[in-house]
Amino acid sequence: MQPNSSNNKWFPKTVYIATYGCQMNEYDSELVRSILKKDNYEFVTDELAADIVMLNTCAIREHAHRKVYGRVHSIRHARGKDNPVMIGLLGCMATNLRQDLLEDRSLKIDFIAGPDSYKRLPQLIREASDEGRKSYDVTLSEFETYSDVYPSRTQGGVNAWLAVMRGCNNFCTFCVVPYTRGRERSRSPENVVDEVRRLAAEGFKQVTLLGQNVNSYRFEDHDFAYLMDEVSKVEGIERIRFTSPHPKDFPDRFLDLMAANPKICKHIHLPLQAGNNRILTMMDRTYTNEEFLDLVDKIRAKIPDIALSTDIIVGFPTETDGEFEDTLQVAAKVGFDSAFMFKYSERQGTIASKKYPDDVPESIKTERIMRLNEIQKEITHLRNRAHIGQIQTVLLEPYPEAKNPGQMPGRTDGNKLVILPLGPYKGGDFIKVRITDATPHGLKGHPV
Ligand code: SF4
Repeated sequence: MQPNSSNNKWFPKTVYIATYGCQMNEYDSELVRSILKKDNYEFVTDELAADIVMLNTCAIREHAHRKVYGRVHSIRHARGKDNPVMIGLLGCMATNLRQDLLEDRSLKIDFIAGPDSYKRLPQLIREASDEGRKSYDVTLSEFETYSDVYPSRTQGGVNAWLAVMRGCNNFCTFCVVPYTRGRERSRSPENVVDEVRRLAAEGFKQVTLLGQNVNSYRFEDHDFAYLMDEVSKVEGIERIRFTSPHPKDFPDRFLDLMAANPKICKHIHLPLQAGNNRILTMMDRTYTNEEFLDLVDKIRAKIPDIALSTDIIVGFPTETDGEFEDTLQVAAKVGFDSAFMFKYSERQGTIASKKYPDDVPESIKTERIMRLNEIQKEITHLRNRAHIGQIQTVLLEPYPEAKNPGQMPGRTDGNKLVILPLGPYKGGDFIKVRITDATPHGLKGHPV
């Protein structure tokens, strides 16, 4: 901590931030860095050297909760009485559990800022350090998009994440996002394009547009297709990705643009969540499995080489064996290139937590996820093998050579990982690669 010359008081000046959960949280940590750097805080990479440790938390998955609780205790323990530290919680979990967190004396949290309150962080920190009181702001905003904050990105070079909208209006019954991040609001296309131009000037080759429900982006009369088209006109940016969309927002106009525009990567993350109609209704996903399959057919008819990934939840309340089989069938019919699979776990404050007891035993959830995992692994391997012999354009990622000596990682347009023998290339280069082998985890290839 730094002494203040006027009154010899100590003020925290160095910050360490740890990020949990999704890419949006990573992006938000970059915003926080930018906001606090303007206020003369310095970021350090050693947690033990920091005056303030901030944990940017996630409320989506239970293990994220456990991790954060454990981390707070271990920080306090490691620092002891002689080396004090302020601890602040940011993010979705901070919003959702603020009361518990502030009242839990064993946790000793100094300040809490929700996802729409990061501009108030300098003030919250001052209140906590000067006045020694717990300070918090978890107010949700209908307007905050941080369009006036340029994130302080840590990983320079190849891909930049960029939030174009925040919040969600969908209220899927299992999800906390509408409560922790509020309603949907979007940045103006001009503001987004300005940031993309800046990223191109800094040497980034790819941008990934982010939003909790990214394809419901809307600013005045402009929709997501318009935004993607505008972003694709920025010179120097060669690849554009987006995540996460909702299946309800894929108009033909957007798919036609994807098909025609070579800069928009041919990959869609299309969350299925469940393949049984009763469960989909209980989740309030607003589509049936037939509609989901029709959408997949439409996407593949327009963009034959599209790669599809998904999210699936098993063991939603009351899900029977037969209903789980429906999910397996839909997953097999679609043949996703990859899938993130989760066991249902109740999240405080959600509609499901109020209406549906979490009644599928843990052992059944485990059995189901193992079966799904096994089947998806085979499908992924099959889809990957189909690329053997093809020539693909690969964007090389930055690689710490020491980690995998003699190898370079890259990504295909469809977002598949390709491992290549080390060559005279660097992260950010596009190279043509012949795919020589495939595993359930990715591809292997040689530059041609
Ligand atoms: S669309 Fe996504 S973020 Fe929004 S409520 Fe549903 S699962 Fe949550």
